[in-house]
Amino acid sequence: MTQPSLLDPPGTDSPSDDPTHLESVSGSRPETHDWWREAVTYQIYPRSFADSDGDGLGDLPGITARLPYLRDLGVDAIWMSPFYCSPMADAGYDVADYRDVDPLFGSIADADALIESAADLGIKVLLDLVPNHSSDEHVWFRQALAAEPGSLERARYHFRDGRGEHGELPPNNWKSVFGGVAWTRVTEADGTPGQWYLHLFDPKQPDFDWDNPDVHADFVRTIAFWVDRGVYGFRVDVAHGLVKAAGLPDWDVDLELLQSWRDGDQDGDQPRAPMWDQDGVHEIYREWRRVLDAYGKPARILCAEAWVEPVERAVRYIRSDEMHQTFNFDFLECAWQATKLNHVIEHSLAVSASVGAPTTWVLSNHDVVRQTSRLGLPQDRPRPHGIGAGDPQPDRALGLRRARAATTLMLALPGAAYLYQGEELGLPDSTDLPDSYRQDPAFARTGGKSAGRDGCRVPMPWAKDAPSFGFGPSGQSWLPQPEVYGDYAADQQEGRPGSTLELYRSLLQTRHQLALGRGRFSPLEAYAGQPDVVAWRSKGAERDDVAVVVNLGPAPVRLPPGAQVLVASEALCDDSSLPTDTAVWLTL
Ligand code: BGC
Repeated sequence: MTQPSLLDPPGTDSPSDDPTHLESVSGSRPETHDWWREAVTYQIYPRSFADSDGDGLGDLPGITARLPYLRDLGVDAIWMSPFYCSPMADAGYDVADYRDVDPLFGSIADADALIESAADLGIKVLLDLVPNHSSDEHVWFRQALAAEPGSLERARYHFRDGRGEHGELPPNNWKSVFGGVAWTRVTEADGTPGQWYLHLFDPKQPDFDWDNPDVHADFVRTIAFWVDRGVYGFRVDVAHGLVKAAGLPDWDVDLELLQSWRDGDQDGDQPRAPMWDQDGVHEIYREWRRVLDAYGKPARILCAEAWVEPVERAVRYIRSDEMHQTFNFDFLECAWQATKLNHVIEHSLAVSASVGAPTTWVLSNHDVVRQTSRLGLPQDRPRPHGIGAGDPQPDRALGLRRARAATTLMLALPGAAYLYQGEELGLPDSTDLPDSYRQDPAFARTGGKSAGRDGCRVPMPWAKDAPSFGFGPSGQSWLPQPEVYGDYAADQQEGRPGSTLELYRSLLQTRHQLALGRGRFSPLEAYAGQPDVVAWRSKGAERDDVAVVVNLGPAPVRLPPGAQVLVASEALCDDSSLPTDTAVWLTL
């Protein structure tokens, strides 16, 4: 099947022939509309969502029991981080069996029950596919260790002889994303020091060699296994990493938590890192797209986690014969600064439209400091990879206020959006977690230089006065919950006007009613030239003339005369002025 791509000349099949226009294609061409173009998907981090059996670790029955909360929140889909069999060296992103559930989380029957309950509530389920690497406890890696150098078993991974007289040096100079060397030397069956294997992440996460046909065949099997059980697609982990440059050439830049390409030269005139965003990776997604398209409608989808820059490269993952969505990390990383936000929004929409795809907005996930904490830090420096007790601490009230405004902006924009569990409660990161509790391998492998990602993974508070704030029945939780989490608990916010939970509910309900995700979008002229204002006019498919206005400056901003407020992230100063760090949806 051939479909138009970025490289094709514009054609009639392409939803957008003009790469610079700012139209959400689905609004203007209803025949191309599909659920994923505007869906709001809620990310569940299973170990921290809800614990049904009291072992301190969240599980699948816990999630199933809380699905009505997500229906009431108003999300269209959930994406679940991995719950597959795993030794949990990277919280489940080290998969030992892609087609089974780890007993810590439940069973296949529990997964089936979850998928079925979600379907009953009108919620689509997406899973997390981890194709860059397996666990070192995956049967294939065990077979590879037991087999000879040069064997078929080793060819599924990147095994190489070492450099140096006795092979005592790693095959190249790549560093692991989590810190340290990206290679580990094995001991051969006869007890002698042997070959090395590549792991861009932890040594317990050996990278697959995607030149190997077995690897292709097995992932197609995994995809079919889960789609046949009723899931609607996958978020694809490290989607930009699967193919490595031929010969695995040296690369002198640290990989730094997925960021080497992004932190590289923004203009893109530096050589591409040999482990990220190689052109060959796109063939894999074309193969998967053919598999998923064969299921017909409604579409089963792929969402790329691709930390790729510039956005012109990122949208190559969502050409019409590849994935459906790719996270807009430029938006996530954008400082709280109006001109920068306006630029990111305008540019993202234009570049996504050039491939006929929606933009997929996101502000938080299990790998980054939560937006409430991030936006409570000074905005003139790069975002931190975790916050430790010794680091500068966020201003919690300021961060929450900005985060609420940021979400109010995000959910007005055309395209899809992802929420991360707990952001609807306004949860901050746990920023004073004692080091002894930290489990993110990045903390240990950087010798504590990076606090790591545990701070955004702390279990959810459901009820202020219950043990573990209602996370589970026993009071245990795998990471300690900060005392202040009680005040953020869902039961403290439910039905309370102005709470963050009620704000999210209003935003999602109104977004659905107005079909905002499907709208067209252009800058709101009334605020042109005002450097502290983000203001866009969105034309929903069902209702016209909706606007979002955000004031990032110190002085109140007057709303357009006659405008009616639909939702506001904070109380207005008076009926017609927007206070600082506040966003509002209006009808004009
Ligand atoms: C996941 C991380 C994980 C890494 C390795 C990432 O992109 O989101 O949580 O540590 O991939 O699998």
